[in-house]
Amino acid sequence: MRLHRVATRTALSLGLTLSLIFLSIIPLQAQQPADCLVRVTLLQLNDVYQFAPVELGTRGGLARVLTLKNEIQKESPNTLLLLSGDTISPSVESITYKGAQMIDAWNAIGLDYSVFGNHEFDFGPDELLKRMQESKFKWLAANVIDKKTGRPFGGAEPFVIREFDGVKVGLFGLTLEETKTTSRPGPDVEFLSPCETARKMVTELHSRGAKTVVALTHLSMSEDKEVARCAEVDVIIGGHEHTLLESSSGGAPIFKMNADARDLGEINLNISKTTGAVESIDWKVIPVTSAIKDDVSFAAINRKYGAIMKELAQVVGRTTVELEARSAAGRTGETNVGDFIADSFRAAMGADVGLINGGSIRADELIRPGVLTSRNVLSILPFKNRVVKIEVDGATLRQALEHGVARTAEDAEPGRFPQVSGVRFTFDATRPAGSRIVDLAMTGRNPVFDPNKKYTIATNDYIALDGGDGYAVLKSGRLLTPRERAPFDSDVVRAAIVKQKRIAPRVDGRIKRLDLARKQTTDCN
Ligand SMILES: [Zn+2]
Repeated sequence: MRLHRVATRTALSLGLTLSLIFLSIIPLQAQQPADCLVRVTLLQLNDVYQFAPVELGTRGGLARVLTLKNEIQKESPNTLLLLSGDTISPSVESITYKGAQMIDAWNAIGLDYSVFGNHEFDFGPDELLKRMQESKFKWLAANVIDKKTGRPFGGAEPFVIREFDGVKVGLFGLTLEETKTTSRPGPDVEFLSPCETARKMVTELHSRGAKTVVALTHLSMSEDKEVARCAEVDVIIGGHEHTLLESSSGGAPIFKMNADARDLGEINLNISKTTGAVESIDWKVIPVTSAIKDDVSFAAINRKYGAIMKELAQVVGRTTVELEARSAAGRTGETNVGDFIADSFRAAMGADVGLINGGSIRADELIRPGVLTSRNVLSILPFKNRVVKIEVDGATLRQALEHGVARTAEDAEPGRFPQVSGVRFTFDATRPAGSRIVDLAMTGRNPVFDPNKKYTIATNDYIALDGGDGYAVLKSGRLLTPRERAPFDSDVVRAAIVKQKRIAPRVDGRIKRLDLARKQTTDCN
């Protein structure tokens, strides 16, 4: 048994040096007759944030996945549909439904098991509990423990054993430890070491007669490799990276599919009926495309969420350039999306200055050139803040901008970072907070900045009226647009795109950071 395992591992690591989609592992021992093998098919998805197709309908879509699943199940009756986590958040739909729309979709396509992704905790543990109660499938969570009970969170199972034609297959779930800090699981949920947990799970599953062990994980690839090295798992069905990855470590292959069901992984475990151990593995990655018909039984979900899906799919315009909507970028420096939003605010409200805090700009992705839909706009500005116009003196405007850059060197992603229009400034983040702006000018007809002059600012009510992200200084401003009559931020930006039809915003250097420029020069030397 030990020798056989080593032989399999060698074969595996050799096989995986090829970047292929299909692989068969031939153990060195004599081939078993085919009738002694039990085939168990694992269908894999991970990081699925919307059930509708993506990329303008060309890829993904859970209705198509259901069609594929039914076809595969006809050929291979021992089929399990697995989700390696991240589905409840983030998405535009989840702003309204908090992930319930995804649970509906998973129930409709007959998901068997899911592991928690880090994003499952984004709305807090209570909301996740509700989603779990709505789930017709089982959640597996060996290392996500409720401190009060010592058991997996929310009644999830640490593992499950399924029997197919007399062979037992064990599955267990593992989630990123960093979920503790990157999401909102609350103080009562702890995340145990994936490696140690995996070791315990394998011992437990083997002792219960399951010689074939599947780890359903939502970990980084390096952690998956560690799990494969420290525990005798046969295959890792993983997620989190959002790109197609096939690796191997410790003799176990590790699979991760593209996000949003662009591909369906089909992993066939050929298990010996005599020993119950995996003899070989075949796999392929099936692109989920518009060539695959929707399963009709999914129509009920499309009807239930039809109104919002139709609204989100509306074409607003096009971008001919990549739109930088990644959080870290918009919270540390000028971005083309920040410029476009601030410009739109200023133009729509007829103000001297446009201003938005980087933390109000979401999406957290690079949006590729092409068609822009309502979904894109709402993913960038999901909060439905109002765009108000206030009047302040120049000194207050300067203070607000100083506040905006006061944490740029100190925090990794300070939400207060100002994206601006109508004004240009240079700052040095190595200077004391409050006196970092070394140069400030207006971009209008009169570029001279005057601390005593009155300026109007178009900005969101979150920072202008609620003092959000610490912008209390703006509260002293005179409100020129009543909040209830002010337009929504997403509507303002949407209208600006509709008006221009084709946008190509570019960073024009309205915000300059001196210390970074210095650093880059030094790095280059
Ligand atoms: Zn994740």
